[in-house]
Amino acid sequence: NAIVRSLPSVETLGCTSVICSDKTGTLTTNQMSVCRMFVFAKTDPKPETTHYEITGSKYAPEGEVFLEGQKVECGKQDALIELAHICAMCNDSAIDYNEHKNQFEKVGEATETALTCLVEKMNVYATSKMGLSKKELGMGMFDKNFTLEFSRDRKSMSSYVTPTKNGPPGGARMFVKGAPEGVLDRCTHVRVGKNKEEIMKHTASYGTGRDTLRCLALATCDAPMSPKEMDLEDSTKFIRYENNLTFVGVVGMLDPPRTEVFDSIQKCRKAGIRVIVITGDNKATAEAICRRIGVFGETESTHGKSFTGREFDDLSVEAQRDATKRAKLFARVEPFHKQKIVEYLQMDGEISAMTGDGVNDAPALKKAEIGIAMGSGTAVAKTASEMVLADDNFSSIVAAVEEGRAIYNNMKQFIRYLISSNIGEVVSIFLTAALGLPEALIPVQLLWVNLVTDGLPATALGFNPPDLDIMDKAPRGTREPLISGWLFFRYMAIGSYVGGATVGAAAWWFMAYSKGPQLNYYQLTHHMQCLAEEQNFAGIDCKIFNNPKPMTMALSVLTHQAQCLAQESRFEGIDCAIFSHPKPMTMALSVLVVIEMCNAMNSLSENQSLIAMPPWKNVWLIGAIVLSMSLHFFILHKVFQITNLTLEEWFAVIKISFPVLLMDEVLKFVARKYTD
Ligand code: ATP
Repeated sequence: NAIVRSLPSVETLGCTSVICSDKTGTLTTNQMSVCRMFVFAKTDPKPETTHYEITGSKYAPEGEVFLEGQKVECGKQDALIELAHICAMCNDSAIDYNEHKNQFEKVGEATETALTCLVEKMNVYATSKMGLSKKELGMGMFDKNFTLEFSRDRKSMSSYVTPTKNGPPGGARMFVKGAPEGVLDRCTHVRVGKNKEEIMKHTASYGTGRDTLRCLALATCDAPMSPKEMDLEDSTKFIRYENNLTFVGVVGMLDPPRTEVFDSIQKCRKAGIRVIVITGDNKATAEAICRRIGVFGETESTHGKSFTGREFDDLSVEAQRDATKRAKLFARVEPFHKQKIVEYLQMDGEISAMTGDGVNDAPALKKAEIGIAMGSGTAVAKTASEMVLADDNFSSIVAAVEEGRAIYNNMKQFIRYLISSNIGEVVSIFLTAALGLPEALIPVQLLWVNLVTDGLPATALGFNPPDLDIMDKAPRGTREPLISGWLFFRYMAIGSYVGGATVGAAAWWFMAYSKGPQLNYYQLTHHMQCLAEEQNFAGIDCKIFNNPKPMTMALSVLTHQAQCLAQESRFEGIDCAIFSHPKPMTMALSVLVVIEMCNAMNSLSENQSLIAMPPWKNVWLIGAIVLSMSLHFFILHKVFQITNLTLEEWFAVIKISFPVLLMDEVLKFVARKYTD
């Protein structure tokens, strides 16, 4: 569900050290439903706060309103009727019945759909039918003239409405809903005297309880400013029009955390990735949700780790930087805070992934190393980001980081596999030349191994599954080299074995194989001298080569004297044609190919044993190995100068090749225990 828009960011994903995530919809399900609310009721001797509970947690308009366990008829309470009016009119959402899925679905924002659903459940005018149209939801009481859209900085929205002829007496009004802190600041009245502290106390109790409710305050303005005086084009001025409000009530919405998020957060912790929640929601609610999803421990103090946007602004620059180093939660933030947080993180050398969905989030998304837009977000946010989350889910970010790490590892394995096999080939050529052995491999064979038999498994390594411990390691540094000192040693060791084994296979056939010529070491390393016998040195006194006179003879002295001396018969009874026999070459080539296949299996994981990560974990690799081996069996005898091997010879090939598996297992064990 993570769609990568810029491919190089896959590599950066693997280095992510901090994930800054939104809360609503990313860490939570965004399946909102109002489950509690409070209004003021006129009771004797003094007005009381009345708390209601609402059943039903889906978008289906099915549920009831209860007061202390008793079902309530909402139409009998003025405060509840007014609350329903605000919820219905200050709202752009609807509930839609999907016949195929046989369920109700939201149309519009989750927060608003929850309110639409609440209005249906309250049913203040006792309408018999459910699933009302938008107009019916407005209950025919008001006409909506215009809306002051929601914005993240003022955290509220409002609708300007005028009563219809069926509506309540009085003129136009402004219905407002928004974050309680902000709306209450703009309230000057309540229907029946109450003070702000008390309202905030009740609101806070909704946020910190077991259900960690997300609260919205509902208010109305009975004498709003005339629309003619409003500048509806400039949203920054809206806050001035939503003024002199009368507080009506607060609704608390259930937005449960996604079940998979807890495990993903644990995974991040193990993988050395810090999760910072950045939310527009209330601090207490956000802290409570953070505890539930494991960002904070059950009893962990949030002091110095949790800030509101305002608290953060009040800090000095140094203190802000310091706070960002330790912070796990920023609540009631505005979009510009995200940008600031990314800047501080970057100053500390962190690689940050930042989520966002709104237009105002775009600068922060652009600034972060990995900007992550929500699939449900705005086109602007998507364009500014490197990755889009199709399902808005935090766990998809963690999965993408894991995938990023795996892809980088696979690239490393691909490159290292090819480097180590080339080291093997170089060593084999070098050894043959240095020891003066008959040619073990001809150029066309090397080319074949390099391009074809190595190429297929190398490509298949790109499909390696992630290492089992991939999320148990700290993130890779961006400056970490592809090949460290230890890895260089490791690949030199393996390369030397490959080269030695290839040359050794040919030497085995010449020297040790019971059905081979059983030469001694001198004969093998001086095979050129045997050939020299075929040039006729008979009758020539070899001392002639000691003649120091002609300087130009220097080379001849070296090359031909030896051949002449060879006549002193170390090659008696040996047919020199044996040195161009195709068998030893076939042995060498077969060992090289089989060892490369073993090496490809070794490359399944950098440090995991083959017992923990068996080859069949990557079926592509198995396929590539089978294909490479088949090609090896069928290559043309004429071009490659090879022949068929007997079973015994194949057995020797396997015996010479397989130790490379053991050798790498030991090196991997050392890496796991000591170098990682
Ligand atoms: P997050 O930032 O974690 O994605 P959020 O939805 O809480 O989640 P914002 O979208 O910035 O953050 O909303 C901030 C606050 O504004 C909310 O907590 C809520 O009180 C209020 N709010 C959200 N949506 C609306 C809306 N449609 N109308 C009025 N107020 C709203």
